[in-house]
Amino acid sequence: MSDFDFDLFVIGGGSGGVRAARIAAQHGARVAIAEEYRLGGTCVIRGCVPKKLFVYASRFAHEFEDAAGFGWTVEGAKFDWLTLVANKDKEIARLEAAYRKNVGGAGAQIIDSRAVIEDAHTVRIVNTGAELRAKYILVATGGHPSRMEIPGEELAITSNEAFHLQELPRRIVIQGGGYIALEFACLFAALGSKVTVVHRGDEILRGFDDDVRAHLRMEMVARGIDIRLNESIQKIEARGAHRCAFLTDGAQIEADQVMLAVGRAPNVKSLGLEAAGVKLAPSGAIIVDENSRTNIPSIYAVGDVTARVALTPVAIREGHAVADTLFGGNPWHLDYANIPSAVFTEPEIGTVGLTEAAARKAGKAIDIYRTRFKPMKATMSGRDTAMLMKLVVEQGTEKVLGVHIVGESAAEMVQLAAIAVKMGATKRDFDNTVALHPTASEELVTLRNKVEA
Ligand code: NDP
Repeated sequence: MSDFDFDLFVIGGGSGGVRAARIAAQHGARVAIAEEYRLGGTCVIRGCVPKKLFVYASRFAHEFEDAAGFGWTVEGAKFDWLTLVANKDKEIARLEAAYRKNVGGAGAQIIDSRAVIEDAHTVRIVNTGAELRAKYILVATGGHPSRMEIPGEELAITSNEAFHLQELPRRIVIQGGGYIALEFACLFAALGSKVTVVHRGDEILRGFDDDVRAHLRMEMVARGIDIRLNESIQKIEARGAHRCAFLTDGAQIEADQVMLAVGRAPNVKSLGLEAAGVKLAPSGAIIVDENSRTNIPSIYAVGDVTARVALTPVAIREGHAVADTLFGGNPWHLDYANIPSAVFTEPEIGTVGLTEAAARKAGKAIDIYRTRFKPMKATMSGRDTAMLMKLVVEQGTEKVLGVHIVGESAAEMVQLAAIAVKMGATKRDFDNTVALHPTASEELVTLRNKVEA
């Protein structure tokens, strides 16, 4: 008999943990997975999935407006926030049940409790006090929204609360210039809120291609969003049921809600990591090697708690790789190059590979191909909008190093373009592909003129 109760004990039932538990169980390992809240983690419960459902809801507003140019009269269209929230909750409950069924069905034992590490092989179940021994422990506890140390910060919401507001804020001030700030800014604005984005930097979306950043900002401003750059909220006060955000330049903005979207921090507190001797980075993230192994050989970590690339599909693959490596006789690890990413703003961003600035910084000689055009639908809808497409191409090899798109369905396009980029496609390969007409994405294979340096 083994000395261990389990071969693998997973702490955290989010995307990475659930995948690792399910695959390990399918490989025949004895697996337990502990989750203190709801199975599904940030992505399913309070992240990607409910956010995308809200994004769908918000986009009807523009569809109704655009319909007029095509002969439609849309009368009496009304939006009910609480219906959206309730239907979203129903869908999240359905998904959570599916997660539970899949991981349980694979043979993993689900423990509905917080679990903490006692030593390199021991986990304590907080609800019962039981101590269980496992050959391997996988920490997949994810992250949580960071807050700001400013007076009145407790009056602000984060993305966690934004999914459960009792009413749609008529006015909202959002601090941050990243994914979450901008996605919520756009969806609230489309649903009818007056939105102010306050960002400390001189441009939104640090790390994205500069053309993409400027283009999205202009499109957001055109949709009525007030973007204050080089500013921060320094204090929040309650004004009855409302809030007042005080900015560094002295401006005071009254709103129904103030939202902080200033990044996310790893969930490492009171997990017993220090007791087990697991090394953390200054940010609190668990330090792991390329196989997601910590400095303690029996303890692994995947997903946002490791602060590598905070994206669901990345956590899923990291979890899958750990399970295959430990129990499937198939060691592998994730290749972090050319991970596509989308920002579900209005218009949305899809991007894969190097930005122009990153390519230049890496010392690459590059050509830039770029187009801005009015999408066909906007010609008749009359919407003042433009699409941006940009290719970063390596001189000599002609390899496409980066694809950056802002516009309708950019995320869907980039998922497919990412296959080509991952395969090392060249600009010639793009050019040799016959255009599919009339689409917006045909521009990607008909870009002929380099941007003059
Ligand atoms: P991001 O890191 O994307 O953005 C954080 C923003 O907050 C930045 O603009 C940053 O500014 C600003 N900021 C950080 N600290 C402070 C501070 N103390 N005061 C003022 N501003 C501050 O984080 P998010 O919270 O938006 O999202 C977290 C992660 O979740 C993302 O990075 C992404 O990986 C993932 N995510 C992915 C989504 C998707 O795939 N569509 C959607 C949502 C989240 P600066 O640039 O100056 O540092």
